[in-house]
Amino acid sequence: MAESGSDTGRQQLVESLRWKKFPVLDDGFVCLVDVMGDDGSVVQAARVSYGAGTKKVSDDRTLIRYLMRHRHTTPFEMAEIKLLVRVPMDTWRQWIRHRTANVNEYSTRYSIAIDAAQRTPPDRWRKQSRSNRQGSEGFLPSELGRQLSEEEAELHEHARRVYEHRLELGVAREQARKDLPLSTYTEAYWKIDLHNLLHFLSLRMDEHAQQEIREYATTIGEQIVRPLFPLVWEAFLDYRRNAMFLSRLDCEVIRRLMDRAAVQGQAPPFTVEQFLAAQDPSWASLERCRERDECLRKLQRLGLVVETSSSEG
Ligand SMILES: Cc1cc2nc3c(=O)[nH]c(=O)nc-3n(C[C@H](O)[C@H](O)[C@H](O)COP(=O)(O)OP(=O)(O)OC[C@H]3O[C@@H](n4cnc5c(N)ncnc54)[C@H](O)[C@@H]3O)c2cc1C
Repeated sequence: MAESGSDTGRQQLVESLRWKKFPVLDDGFVCLVDVMGDDGSVVQAARVSYGAGTKKVSDDRTLIRYLMRHRHTTPFEMAEIKLLVRVPMDTWRQWIRHRTANVNEYSTRYSIAIDAAQRTPPDRWRKQSRSNRQGSEGFLPSELGRQLSEEEAELHEHARRVYEHRLELGVAREQARKDLPLSTYTEAYWKIDLHNLLHFLSLRMDEHAQQEIREYATTIGEQIVRPLFPLVWEAFLDYRRNAMFLSRLDCEVIRRLMDRAAVQGQAPPFTVEQFLAAQDPSWASLERCRERDECLRKLQRLGLVVETSSSEG
């Protein structure tokens, strides 16, 4: 059967992406090895469940957006992506927690460990966050950063020398590697269906994820998923990545704020003090409350609460 123009265009797109190394961090990359399916595969699978008549009432984009909004997830499992990735081992340790992928990793029992460790530029040493025990905020002064980067280089060099010395003396590769730093790069093939990939991206592109894995997830999302699955990517951004989850408690805070505003003839935005007056009763006695902080941030993002001044001025 002759290829249609769109088939050829698709093949050209895939070929232009395949084996292209998108750089991440100082020496890492992600690269597309293979892809099965496209936006149409999701639509095709969904139409099996909804019947032949569906096409008349809903075009591909509308259907994909409906599936994404309503978490009708299995049609997204009909497409798959296989990547080759090069990642520092500490980032890989977070990555590999995603159990729904198929993985084959470079073996440092079989081969000599990759001679590259992720280095941190002097201006990229992050400070411990005061509000989030798992997070970071801001950077150390570059003078301190220079010192840390020098120490890092010495440590990497020393660890590598010790490793290679053990190999020279005949120590087995599986044992010689045990003191290599977690910054050592590893490589792996990683195959995952589109549904589970979007789950990975929603967790790992998020601001709560560590900076390093966010860089990988963002590269995969923007450089690979976006061009290969443009309609799915658009729906993912609209209904997941850039969407907001409001809990029952959040909704009730908004309702109380709006009710009080109506009674007082006031229009949003509200002040933080007004937000605190309308907060959930179970938060009120707590000095620190992460759920309250998160609710405040959501309302600020919506423009309902501002930092200092009220709409009354
Ligand atoms: C910001 C952040 C902080 C984290 N902090 C920590 C931490 O401090 N300590 C820590 O140990 N981990 C931590 N994690 C890892 C986290 O708990 C998950 O293990 C990881 O994100 C994988 O998520 P997942 O299980 O949803 O994904 P996947 O393994 O890809 O699974 C996808 C989905 O499949 C289903 N699924 C898969 N396997 C099973 C199963 N065996 N049983 C039931 N359902 C299954 C679930 O619905 C799951 O959501 C953190 C993750 C993030 C994003």
